[in-house]
Amino acid sequence: MGADASPSQSITGHLRGALNTCRGAWSHIARLALDIALPALCVACREPVDGEGVCAKCWAKLSFIAPPFCPKLGIPLVYEPGSGMLSMEAISDPPAYARARAAVRYDDVARTLVHALKYQDRTDLAPTMGRWMARAGRELLDQADVMIPVPLHWRRGWSRRYNQSGALARSIERQSGVRVAAEVLRRVRQTQQQIGLSRSQRAANVQGAFRVATVSQSEIQGRRVVLIDDVLTSGATVDACARALLRAKAAQVDVLVFARVVDTHKAPI
Ligand SMILES: [Zn+2]
Repeated sequence: MGADASPSQSITGHLRGALNTCRGAWSHIARLALDIALPALCVACREPVDGEGVCAKCWAKLSFIAPPFCPKLGIPLVYEPGSGMLSMEAISDPPAYARARAAVRYDDVARTLVHALKYQDRTDLAPTMGRWMARAGRELLDQADVMIPVPLHWRRGWSRRYNQSGALARSIERQSGVRVAAEVLRRVRQTQQQIGLSRSQRAANVQGAFRVATVSQSEIQGRRVVLIDDVLTSGATVDACARALLRAKAAQVDVLVFARVVDTHKAPI
């Protein structure tokens, strides 16, 4: 910070410094102070914006998923399916989970938001993204006992310092009142990144990678669980998580993600 910095620049610089060094509650407080000191910026393109969230230009580029969609996979459909009718994908390759829902399609703006939250420490995006998820998953959350974020392996969690799915789950918890149980599901095997793997390789990569801790089995038994993740691509990760939770006698496992790849052939991550 230069000696000629204006008082407001000094305050802003100081808060930014505090934000970079603080975590948890202190980070939250610093973020609140920063929000007061600075005009709100679009979470995707950083242009000034009225209110919070994304600017009109970025908002227009987001594809919010709305009915009609497959009642099981949540894949958008071009026509309203009849009662109980499922998409071809749900029939030919049924997942272990009961239902999946996503707030948006995984496209350019969605990818910017997901990458910022995941790799750039932008935990301030979680409240907005979580709010959209809570709306998309209202039916699932209304019937849920507990939310479980897809866990990172402890080594990756340690290097990244926080789990982006956990940040989204905490935001949805504030919206919906459904409790988050973050320590129940463990990633017991470090897996290769799913990027660049085929559908079958993705499934093999995460098979047996998740387990419910023995001490946590009673927290899951007979409960309706909503799994929380940032992106759903082939569904292999959430499927492996769902299998682990069902083995621990969960009554039902649903999935709620921020963004889903609608056509995996056209939109690789
Ligand atoms: Zn924008």
